[in-house]
Amino acid sequence: IPEAATPSATLREEYESLAEEVRRHRALYYNEDAPIISDAEYDALFRRLEEFEALHPELVSNDSPTQEVGGEATAAFAPVTHLSRMYSLEDVFSIDELNAWITRAEASIAGIGNLPPVRWLTELKIDGLAINLLYRRGELVRAATRGDGRTGEDVTHNVFTIKDIPRRLAGTNHPEEVEIRGEVYIPTKAFNEFNEALIADGKAPLANPRNAAAGSLRQKDPAETAKRPLSMFVHGVGVREGIPARSQSETYELLKSWGLPTSPYYEVFDSYEKVLEFIETYSEKRHSLIHEIDGIVIKADDFATQRALGHTSRVPRWAVAFKYPPEEVHTKLLDIAVNV
Ligand code: NAD
Repeated sequence: IPEAATPSATLREEYESLAEEVRRHRALYYNEDAPIISDAEYDALFRRLEEFEALHPELVSNDSPTQEVGGEATAAFAPVTHLSRMYSLEDVFSIDELNAWITRAEASIAGIGNLPPVRWLTELKIDGLAINLLYRRGELVRAATRGDGRTGEDVTHNVFTIKDIPRRLAGTNHPEEVEIRGEVYIPTKAFNEFNEALIADGKAPLANPRNAAAGSLRQKDPAETAKRPLSMFVHGVGVREGIPARSQSETYELLKSWGLPTSPYYEVFDSYEKVLEFIETYSEKRHSLIHEIDGIVIKADDFATQRALGHTSRVPRWAVAFKYPPEEVHTKLLDIAVNV
């Protein structure tokens, strides 16, 4: 038996304790909406686990946090099985890592053949929480959080209180069933005003818009959710049979025509250089937008390409999230040479 197949007890213990630490912070973040470390610290911890697993693949178990979508459906809400799975996103933390990711993706696409030249839909990574809306014949019948990607929490009645989200879709060309995925968030201005009102009332302010959005959506009493200034932007579709769209961008236009809130900030580029310019632009503008962002999401626009690339157990292979560096170490991103 090769040495790698029999990891020492110490190595296994080290691995288990690292995985457990990631799970603990995930539970605080997703289940309690109350993280105790920053996202950058969490990302660094997660990266350590990934690197550990790359060095010791024999230790990786199916329930490792790297193999699963983070979060679970807590007992506080009725469980909902999504019609099609929800995923997380692969993160990259530098332009070098993004270059490598794009090079790999473009090589896979070229290798598959018969696919149109890749176009990259580039959009903001909204710092909120994922929602899955099920519309039947144009009527909103169910809304669920992502949970572990297979099963989420039923928050339908809370979602009914969000003004951005139509109970009935506009237009007529609706399929029998469609799952709309998006991000529920609190706009920065509304968040600040909400906090000022709390402070004036002698109450404790909310920590940040992301956790406030998650906590607000996951209230037991919809009347409480209704008091919170929640908004939503769509960023995907799950089950979509019968949708007359061949790409992510065509889908956004269709959803917009149905009265769903689409982000004004997305663009489709046929050159990667333009993607980099978009990243640079929003790195400067990121604090003057209507909502907080924690990065930029880059997706192959074409659905045939998305289908051909597929998914891992945790993330799609046709999309990537570029995370901006934490503020204190922020440097001009494009100083790094681009060679793809
Ligand atoms: P993620 O948030 O990095 O990416 C996936 C999610 O991004 C999707 O599920 C979707 O909801 C969201 N998203 C926002 N804009 C999007 C867009 N335009 N297109 C597609 N999706 C978009 O991954 P994750 O697994 O949900 O969470 C991991 C992240 O959460 C970490 O990187 C960390 O920042 C944070 N986190 C923090 C802690 C902590 O303790 N501070 C713990 C767990 C997770």
